[in-house]
Amino acid sequence: MKHYYSDHFTIGENGHICMDGVDLVTVAQDFGTPAYVMSESQIRENCRAFTEAMKRNFGERYKVAYASKALCAKFMYPILASEGVHADVVSGGELYTALQAGFNPKHLHFHGNNKTYKELVMAVDCGIGSVIIDAFEEVDLLETICASKGVHQRVLFRVKPGVHADTHEFISTGQNDSKFGFGIEDGEAMRLAKYILQHEHLDFAGIHCHIGSQVFSVDGFARAAKIMFDFFCKMEQELNITMDEMIIGGGFGIRYMPEDEPGTFGEKLDAMGKVMREESARLGREIPEIVIEPGRSMVGAAGCTLYTVGSVRDIKDARSYVSVDGGLPDNPRFALYQAKYDAVVANRADAPRDKLQTIAGRCCESGDLVARDLTFQTAKAGDILCVFATGAYNYSMASNYNRVPRAPIVLISDGKAREVVRRETYEDLVRNDLI
Ligand SMILES: *Cc1c(COP(=O)(O)O)cnc(C)c1O
Repeated sequence: MKHYYSDHFTIGENGHICMDGVDLVTVAQDFGTPAYVMSESQIRENCRAFTEAMKRNFGERYKVAYASKALCAKFMYPILASEGVHADVVSGGELYTALQAGFNPKHLHFHGNNKTYKELVMAVDCGIGSVIIDAFEEVDLLETICASKGVHQRVLFRVKPGVHADTHEFISTGQNDSKFGFGIEDGEAMRLAKYILQHEHLDFAGIHCHIGSQVFSVDGFARAAKIMFDFFCKMEQELNITMDEMIIGGGFGIRYMPEDEPGTFGEKLDAMGKVMREESARLGREIPEIVIEPGRSMVGAAGCTLYTVGSVRDIKDARSYVSVDGGLPDNPRFALYQAKYDAVVANRADAPRDKLQTIAGRCCESGDLVARDLTFQTAKAGDILCVFATGAYNYSMASNYNRVPRAPIVLISDGKAREVVRRETYEDLVRNDLI
């Protein structure tokens, strides 16, 4: 067996691609296609890589909180809990899923720029760890809810550090044009902090930022860490308060294509740790508890999607289209932002990559592609395709467009495959149709 793509993929003697030693062609036969397949051991390895790097930089004063929106389904939460990882949620639905899975509500925090009254009630009622405020109106709403119940809620709020993360690059923006967070430069963040402090049922614990997603460079993380820590200290001094937590978000980039060089999670956390130790010495304030929120980096590379090829169309002087039994409903990321994916013919993964092909989805949309202009094994009808790194923002972004039932999630653990989210049925599709 030789490794392919990551340590978790190998090519068997029969030429089939395997995940953690399990033949994915067999998985396709047993569970049907399209199907998402996830490696439990890789999710756990990612949890440990983040935990170790945090420990190395921040001692015992850290939390790794998984960003649920990358992949939210019940099976995730016991895995996270057993690795000592917390989680964030961005909706009542994600909160409900985590609670249904038995996750400790104290280990959850709630994000979102427009949380509803109902969602905030749900969060307060379950005893959620913290709410990350992202609006003046939310302060009023949360205070009213807590006052009526006679309870206190731990809160942080979202800051715009003025560091904008692009895919591979950072652009420093003085005035950040974003719907999220409150600016430091324009005084809005300080104004919100003062406003929160006027509300007796809100326990103000710290600040949060998230600079973007799929970030490769170390600089942006280090810059955000410095800006945040400086502002943290400034707030404590100006407002004469003590806070205890700083959340510096997620955004750690992963490899989608073989040529991508995302670097390691550790190097980004080491850079943040270094900056914070320097600032700590300069400002005479010990580093507060630091929280990171990796989403994509926790599950992205731990997943792949299996499809069956239905037809191949070689268009003269144009592209060669390989049509599969999924696409936009299970992975809208090409349609959304022309995301790139690598793929192989799962049943001939050992054959040379010999043809430039475009993987097309099954929907009535020309933009429904999975991968455009990718060189891989010549595909033919009946082949199984394995598309890599689909663990994040695929299942969680899936839809029923064209009334296509959602694909199942098959989890590989200890050399065995089992469905942890079942395939939707046609009955599921009409479940909410009232007449
Ligand atoms: C999306 C999001 C994350 C996770 O981002 P990744 O790029 O998936 O790591 C973390 N924090 C917040 C607030 C987010 O919105």
